[in-house]
Amino acid sequence: MHSPKEIQTEAFKKQIALAKDSRLPVIVHSREAKDDTMQILHDHASGIQGVLHCFSGDMHMAKKAMQLGFYISIAGPVTFQNAKDLREIVKFIPDEYLLIETDAPYLSPVPMRGKRNEPAFIRYTAQAIADLRGVSLSDISRITTLNAMKLFNIGRMPDRGEIAYRIRDSLYLNITNRCTNRCGFCIRFESDYVKGHNLRLENEPSSGEIIKAVGDPESYKEIVFCGLGEPLMRLDIVKEVAAWVKLKGGRVRINTNGHGNLIHGKNILPGLQGIVDSISISLDAESREKYEAICKPVYENAFQEVLSFIKEAKQYIPEVKVTVVNLPDIDIEKCRAIAEELGVELRVRELNVVG
Ligand code: SF4
Repeated sequence: MHSPKEIQTEAFKKQIALAKDSRLPVIVHSREAKDDTMQILHDHASGIQGVLHCFSGDMHMAKKAMQLGFYISIAGPVTFQNAKDLREIVKFIPDEYLLIETDAPYLSPVPMRGKRNEPAFIRYTAQAIADLRGVSLSDISRITTLNAMKLFNIGRMPDRGEIAYRIRDSLYLNITNRCTNRCGFCIRFESDYVKGHNLRLENEPSSGEIIKAVGDPESYKEIVFCGLGEPLMRLDIVKEVAAWVKLKGGRVRINTNGHGNLIHGKNILPGLQGIVDSISISLDAESREKYEAICKPVYENAFQEVLSFIKEAKQYIPEVKVTVVNLPDIDIEKCRAIAEELGVELRVRELNVVG
């Protein structure tokens, strides 16, 4: 309160108007003014982008800000022992809304607390965020760099989709953008990016291009067929590349919607034996009705076929898991019961967490 509240409010509105006129993003410093900030942004900031700098609000404020299209920028306090709430928020923010900053010369992160903050210390904040989100430091670096480029219109965005992209210590393969589902939560309808990687392919890569993009399979924990589409639509390519990865001593996983047998009109699983170590199949719902409402499959009997695919997969692939996205309409316990009956592990994925 270095100046009267009314003057601060007016100045804030004027600067938002200036940002609008100049087509520039706003950087908002909100301190002990959560409700006023959000009300003014709601009323005056439509159509512009911005960031809540050095975020110190609560979960409700973070959600409201993201609804308005604002980024949330995290600084050194995330490393402080008493920042329990902030850490929960950091776990929750989708990749597309995450930024990171020093707030130098203030708020030095642990283990530099007490020293003057400087850009070199950003790595401690980044590492803390990476640990909370279960990704690597380079994943956080890539994600937040891309977001900064988008928000401030700086640098050159990657204009080509990647064939092979690293997340944590695994290498993911993006071999098609086609799919036989149209899931309501699918990232490919929202964005070209996963964990800061552009996955929008201009052309589907050949097996030679994929192998070249992989390099040495042994340098990764596993090679995962995934990407912005259903890999088993390109079964021959999957088999060729998977066989090569196994020959080179790598481990192979396929993430699939479980439509492989429907797509190819035959049981494709015997052909994956010996070249695929693990398969993760999207169960997505506890009933046919819900599956059809959420996934909008091109096939009529898709849900039943996914169940059969899961059962059959166990005969040919050593590790079979099923996944479900934690949507409000989905009965996770019923999905768990289905997985138990099928004798496979269920992994519950959080909505908006991709990759
Ligand atoms: S199955 Fe996967 S790739 Fe296909 S629409 Fe659903 S989420 Fe997207």
